[in-house]
Amino acid sequence: MRTSQPQTIYLNEYKVPAYLVDHVDLRFELFENGARVHSTMTVRRNPECVQSKAPLELDGDSLKLESVSLDGLPLDAEAYDDQGDKLVVPNVPAQFELNVVTWIEPQNNTRLEGLYKSSGMFCTQCEAEGFRSITYYPDRPDVMAMFRTRIEADKAAYPILLSNGNPVEQGELAGDRHFVTWEDPFPKPAYLFALVAGDLVEKKDTFTTCSGRAIDLRMYVEPRNAEKCDFAMDSLKRAMRWDEEVYGREYDLDIFMIVAVDDFNMGAMENKGLNIFNSSCVLASQNTATDASFQRIEAIVAHEYFHNWSGNRVTCRDWFQLSLKEGFTVFRDAQFSADMGSPTVKRIEDVTLLRTAQFAEDAGPMAHPVRPASYMEISNFYTLTIYEKGAEVVRMINHLLGDDLFRKGSDLYFERHDGQAVTTDDFVRAMEDASGRDLSQFRLWYEQAGTPVVTVADHYDEDRGVYRLDICQSVPDTPGQTGKKPQHIPFALGLLSRAGEPLPLNLSAAEQDGPQERVLELTESEQSFEFHGLSERPVPSLLRNFSAPVRVQYPWSRDQLLFLMSHDPDGFNRWDAGQRLAVDVIQSLIGAPEGAEVEPRLVGAYRNLLSDVSLDQALVAKMLLLPSEAYLVELSEQADVPAIYAARQKVLTHLAESLRDDLVGCYQRSRAEGEYQLTPQAIALRSLRNTALAWLLHIKDEQGLAFALEQYRSADNMTDRLGALRALVNSDFADEREQALRAFYEQYSDDPQVVELWFSVQASSYQAGQLPQIQTLLDHPAFDWKNPNKVRSVVGAFAGQNLAAFHKADGSGYQFLADQVCRLDDSNPQIAARLISPLTRWKKFAPHYGQQMKAALECVRGKSELSPDVYEVVLKSLSD
Ligand SMILES: [Zn+2]
Repeated sequence: MRTSQPQTIYLNEYKVPAYLVDHVDLRFELFENGARVHSTMTVRRNPECVQSKAPLELDGDSLKLESVSLDGLPLDAEAYDDQGDKLVVPNVPAQFELNVVTWIEPQNNTRLEGLYKSSGMFCTQCEAEGFRSITYYPDRPDVMAMFRTRIEADKAAYPILLSNGNPVEQGELAGDRHFVTWEDPFPKPAYLFALVAGDLVEKKDTFTTCSGRAIDLRMYVEPRNAEKCDFAMDSLKRAMRWDEEVYGREYDLDIFMIVAVDDFNMGAMENKGLNIFNSSCVLASQNTATDASFQRIEAIVAHEYFHNWSGNRVTCRDWFQLSLKEGFTVFRDAQFSADMGSPTVKRIEDVTLLRTAQFAEDAGPMAHPVRPASYMEISNFYTLTIYEKGAEVVRMINHLLGDDLFRKGSDLYFERHDGQAVTTDDFVRAMEDASGRDLSQFRLWYEQAGTPVVTVADHYDEDRGVYRLDICQSVPDTPGQTGKKPQHIPFALGLLSRAGEPLPLNLSAAEQDGPQERVLELTESEQSFEFHGLSERPVPSLLRNFSAPVRVQYPWSRDQLLFLMSHDPDGFNRWDAGQRLAVDVIQSLIGAPEGAEVEPRLVGAYRNLLSDVSLDQALVAKMLLLPSEAYLVELSEQADVPAIYAARQKVLTHLAESLRDDLVGCYQRSRAEGEYQLTPQAIALRSLRNTALAWLLHIKDEQGLAFALEQYRSADNMTDRLGALRALVNSDFADEREQALRAFYEQYSDDPQVVELWFSVQASSYQAGQLPQIQTLLDHPAFDWKNPNKVRSVVGAFAGQNLAAFHKADGSGYQFLADQVCRLDDSNPQIAARLISPLTRWKKFAPHYGQQMKAALECVRGKSELSPDVYEVVLKSLSD
């Protein structure tokens, strides 16, 4: 455990490495009581470093040093300084070979960083700084070396031995042991190193690249998961083809491997040629995975594969540049998912996450720019801002340049920087050079934290037939950043006539037949735009397809929103109008007297959605979902969660009661006939049906109950079975709920991924997930503190999704979370630091709640030996 006060690291203090490593030869001797790591590095002084007499400094963490030799000669203990987190060797020549032998204990590694054991197999996670707990090494992404890795282990227990690159040698050793040697011909930073040793089954396939090379594709899983690999393998092949066609990127090694691991802090990791996945992000079958899991798996498999170019071949100079690889790669995987399914639905899902969670982060104590200027613990910066807002920034560049110039820019970026560790600025420069566009103001998106607010006022001049938009933008203050400059915002819009027809957007009196959609480029604090030749006051459709990650303020009337809900040609804005209307109705009921009326036109709009079968059913399925409590919290000034929950419940109850027969009709009609399919249409029908079912059970409808029990019994896929279970769990049918939960667990108790679903269905439900029940789940034999997925599915789901139960007026939810964070901090600080996040926004809540949240944070701060991970989050939350 590191106990010293964590240091802040600043971007502007970046220095080039004093020494470079050209080649690393690793030899791992794996045993049950530990592992010996022999590392031989070919080192030379960096010609770009001015300090020629600098000592060699290698990073380390929790290592037992056994020996150091330089150019084959063992060094005495006086010849180097072993400081624990650093190994310093002074007086080294300009070029030399350094051999370091360390002893580590993977079996006791509960942090799941570096080399550790999961379900009896050895595996690694080295991003961001895990390699330093394997051996002493310059553990920074701008040191790129060629790796050769020999793994030695017991042959019976670990028949499969994997590392990066291509296998070059294997053989038998004394004592029933064996070895395999791997060589990676591409230079890479240590964070992309990976090793796996275990008793795994191998699933094989091949892929022929655009230039005709045959690539071996391999998946390695535990024998019980052998039947759950097909979907990920197919997703991989689709991703490989797509990256060739859309980005011109061909795979480079002879083999590409995926390994599934149960205990994993992240979703997956893009190690060169050897991707390691959290089991829940790769294993799937119709009977055990929901539609949402299938889509998530396809996206994550693609994401990690795409990193082979955007991340591995071209990597980050330092960790401040994390969004260079993550923002670009999330953008690429979002494009891929849109191409594989419904682009509008994908956009709605991405924006929902962005507006609910990233905007909250941007407005909270951990707010930071897409390229942060400082950090204490880099693990805390694997954030929605780096990933999702970073992807939005790339999307805006695409929007401003157009598809062709964007592709030219990406080609130039890969060609210019192949084999290098670079910065977000290098990325933007490649885009500028390829397109001839000036993106200097646009760069503020990387530098300024906070979500820009765009305020729109309109004015119609009947005499001149001119409609004018006055648009102001401002970026709110965030911790450490005030007085921000206006940003370069692509603002897509259209105008509709009263009859619902799109109108031409003529920017001058001379222009006739202008386009029906335009992208205005906002660059100043205040700008006006005039649209000519309009014989009536139009209805504006603003920020179409969410063309920029901003908050738009415009005084929409409920009439306008109802109109846009049924007439906007932009599917995203249609959905958005429905969300804004529902938000407006719910907000007007927060704290309202008992008998307050629910807007009757909302019922009419939802009835139309439920009954008009000519509408895009995938879009309808999304439009029927009411805004979440988390989003309503995010939109409030001083959130009172029980009041928000009550208002939302009231609207839901009113809608379900008023539309009871329509819901029954929709449920009966929306049955996907035949074989289970993963098409957007079939997914939409299942989603519609499950929403209708949930609403019927919400009002304790007996026919709904019969539907749910029958659906649970006869479902041929997990989406429908879990949909029925969820509806029962969230209902007041207490006996049926308990029965279904018992039956579900009995049926799936040997499948950890399904048990995680079972945990989270309960922990996220107000009916089934009150604190005493959460405590029971933690005591359940299937719960395991060492497994991050289990922790997330109970503690994470309770604090993050079961808002009304978590925000109890007595503060018990907050104290519970603080206790669990303290408990977890000793074994897995990374997960503990992520788990604490619901408490960090205490200022967002009404004082009675906020003060108790703050007290819970202070309680965590009082813990002795707090990890740097949790320390940074608590410190920033309390000092903001
Ligand atoms: Zn990634």
